[in-house]
Amino acid sequence: MRSLGRLNAGKQGCLETGMLLSAYIPQPHLDPGTLDPLNPLLYESKKFSVLAFDRITMAILDIVTYPDMFLKQPTKPVENIDGSLQELIDNMGETMYQAPGIGLAAIQVGIDRSLLIYDISPQDEDRCMKVLVNPRIIESQGEVLSENEGCLSVPEYRSNVKRFASILVEAYDRDEKLLRFEAHDFLSIVLQHEIDHLNGKLFIDRISPLKRQLYTRRMQKQLKRGE
Ligand SMILES: [Zn+2]
Repeated sequence: MRSLGRLNAGKQGCLETGMLLSAYIPQPHLDPGTLDPLNPLLYESKKFSVLAFDRITMAILDIVTYPDMFLKQPTKPVENIDGSLQELIDNMGETMYQAPGIGLAAIQVGIDRSLLIYDISPQDEDRCMKVLVNPRIIESQGEVLSENEGCLSVPEYRSNVKRFASILVEAYDRDEKLLRFEAHDFLSIVLQHEIDHLNGKLFIDRISPLKRQLYTRRMQKQLKRGE
């Protein structure tokens, strides 16, 4: 999810550790074929390319954008929270902060697994990245209008979207701990947006067909012009 500039949710205690916010050091473009041959996730990635990569800094991943049909598929559950997944999570974090965004689902970086990250802490405060593996919305309640919602995979477009005001979420964190928590208001919106991604849904699937058609035509024209 793209930053909305409306970070009105209170800061939550951040229990995540180990999120390395290394300086971004541009490196010559590396052929993905030269990367770690033991990391299958790198090879599952549809559009993996590396702008900066070494064992200390992290990779900025390519973000898949609409109308790429890859975004339309439901994701598969994560079966193992192993080293490859931890590396993917760190790379997704780097990608989200660099974009900048406040949420990112694995499908957006070409990995069709049920994994998302988010950070709704104000940008001038310490970063507080949260990770949800195999998240599910157990209950939902109320209705709220998400104003000017945007998405890193839907360039140059924002729209109001109807969302549930509160949801109950179950997921694992990156340490395989089972989480069950309520999310309200802005956090609820962010999580519904990201969990939608894991089900092959974009926020523009929740707006009127006419509005969506106008946006689709605009993007098709831009693609034709090669912009
Ligand atoms: Zn999105």
